[in-house]
Amino acid sequence: MIKIGFWKSEQEPDLPDPNDFVDPDWDVQVRRMVVRYLNSGKESAAYRGMSRCRFCRRFNGNCDLTDGVYLWPDGLPHYLEAHQVRLPEEFVQHVLDRMQAEPDTKFLPYTPERLKNIDVRTKKRTR
Ligand SMILES: [Zn+2]
Repeated sequence: MIKIGFWKSEQEPDLPDPNDFVDPDWDVQVRRMVVRYLNSGKESAAYRGMSRCRFCRRFNGNCDLTDGVYLWPDGLPHYLEAHQVRLPEEFVQHVLDRMQAEPDTKFLPYTPERLKNIDVRTKKRTR
């Protein structure tokens, strides 16, 4: 599994620094798509302690998500949305490939819990 979005900390100083990935010019549509993809990952069995955002220090997730190829922390979308962190091109290409290769509902590994949440949101919108 390829790890992505695991940032350096005092415990793990050899990991990448998210400051090096900030790019305010990253295409908004692509960013939204990648965020959606990241949020649709399956929870991996690995459990970590509460992670804090390296920028704003808020508590930012406590487990890892996967699509079977990549592994990322569940707090990764926050970096993209709140701090304009841009992910490497090979990962973006991987997301695009997946979305093109599989029909919409299949590439998103929704858990029943997530599907339930989406129904709720849809109902709210139509009210
Ligand atoms: Zn933050």
